[in-house]
Amino acid sequence: MQRPHLTELRQEARAPHVVILGGGYAGAATAIKLLDSGQAPLRVTIVEPRAELGSGLAYSTRDSALLMNGPAKLFSLHPERPEHFSQYLARFGGEWAWRDPLAPDYANAFAPRSVFGDYVRAELARAVARAAPGASFQHIATEAIDLRRRSGRVDVILANGQSLPADHVVLAVGAGRRRDEPVEPAIAARCISDPLHPESYERLPREGRVLLIGTGLTMLDALVTLERRGFRGSYLAISRRGLLVHPRREVAPLRDFLAESPLPTTALGLLRAARQELARVSSGRPDWQSLVMAVRPHVPALWQRASNEERARFLRHLRPIWEVSLHRAPPRSAQLLERGRAEGWFTHRAGRIAALTAAEHRIGASIRFRGQTDSETVLVDAVIDCRGATHDWTRSSSLLAANLLATGVARPGPLSFGIEADSQSSVIGRDGAPAADISAIGPALRGVRWESSTLVEILQQAGHLASRISAAPLIAEAGRTAAAGVGC
Ligand SMILES: Cc1cc2nc3c(=O)[nH]c(=O)nc-3n(C[C@H](O)[C@H](O)[C@H](O)COP(=O)(O)OP(=O)(O)OC[C@H]3O[C@@H](n4cnc5c(N)ncnc54)[C@H](O)[C@@H]3O)c2cc1C
Repeated sequence: MQRPHLTELRQEARAPHVVILGGGYAGAATAIKLLDSGQAPLRVTIVEPRAELGSGLAYSTRDSALLMNGPAKLFSLHPERPEHFSQYLARFGGEWAWRDPLAPDYANAFAPRSVFGDYVRAELARAVARAAPGASFQHIATEAIDLRRRSGRVDVILANGQSLPADHVVLAVGAGRRRDEPVEPAIAARCISDPLHPESYERLPREGRVLLIGTGLTMLDALVTLERRGFRGSYLAISRRGLLVHPRREVAPLRDFLAESPLPTTALGLLRAARQELARVSSGRPDWQSLVMAVRPHVPALWQRASNEERARFLRHLRPIWEVSLHRAPPRSAQLLERGRAEGWFTHRAGRIAALTAAEHRIGASIRFRGQTDSETVLVDAVIDCRGATHDWTRSSSLLAANLLATGVARPGPLSFGIEADSQSSVIGRDGAPAADISAIGPALRGVRWESSTLVEILQQAGHLASRISAAPLIAEAGRTAAAGVGC
């Protein structure tokens, strides 16, 4: 083994290196929490191919009609200062004469997602500028493709062939993009497989009929985008159950009824507890949206206690209902949808797409609608896949995901959602042991927590992760050594 050069050793003793793979919200929030912790010496690196940090998949859009799905008061990066993002939004609103016409103030406004991305970026810049002496930050604008162990450290292998030695690696890579399925060129020209990419819409016709696969928030994004671009035509949205995204309402919270007795371990037990609570509330019928809010904080614990059999039962019977209840639409976008339904240019149905075939200058979508035994062919001018990202790492197009699974650094999570990790978010590989120096955050933890991709959940995880990394023996020791004035 080659001996490291002395200056390299001193560097290591001086500044433990945390490398965060992915610079979307999860990666940026982790970096902010690490830099704000005051830990020094410390090097924080984000590896992220996008030029801008903090936006990731959801907040990179520049279309101000694409809105967050909750009011600004929920999305402060600093829970101890809940008004922090609302104040940023008010400054933006003042500068750009922007207001949410449906909200009484900025705290209750549904902000453009692009503004939230700007906010995260501004906070990261603030955290870097105010980091403790001896703490540093860098962004390497490329992709990570593998992790390899070497001399007690982890090497991050970059797409350009370089390797980056790290003392702790955080996997903040988001949910995976599905591998593109092979389709005929004539169909591909009129299909969008990545509706969050604004350029994809360039090639679509300006009128005709659009088939939207999916009836949730991604579908609503596609609808808002097409309407903004002046599309004049009609839409048919298809999903297996035909459950359409709901508008989000401001509702009075229910009491935390699940905190009062041991958590149920089955989906049926949860349903019973919810029904009892609804029956108990005497003052009229509570809004079902308040029930979702009461259950949601308990979801990771409910999921962790449930057997795989019970989880599979939840997936079969309750998942679509849970998803459509949890992921609700900003009121303004929901108004557009309602108008489309009322005026007849938007319809949605329950069904399954059996096949897509080229038909002259159109696409023939063979759909088996619910309740029918035979498929029906519907002619459309464009197809947009709004099913969203995949949580199954074995089906992801990511080279990093493929390599980590192949080498056993990671293994698929329960029921093939995300990857395996312990309750501290330490990644569990093929050997079954949690890695002390590789952690995961956000959608990668879908299989072990179920709900792990909203801003609130990710922020909590980032806070815990930063505290845990700062307290890791190597990093804490470097801090103590520096504070005592020993070493370099
Ligand atoms: C369209 C949309 C709207 C949403 N709106 C809301 C909302 O209003 N409120 C809410 O609470 N939640 C919302 N969410 C959910 C939540 O905010 C996002 O899931 C969250 O931002 C996820 O952040 P992330 O950093 O984990 O993932 P991402 O945003 O996907 O970021 C991951 C980053 O990792 C990078 N990356 C991937 N692989 C590699 C690699 N191998 N090497 C280096 N970098 C890599 C990617 O380029 C990407 O930038 C929304 C999600 C979507 C998709």
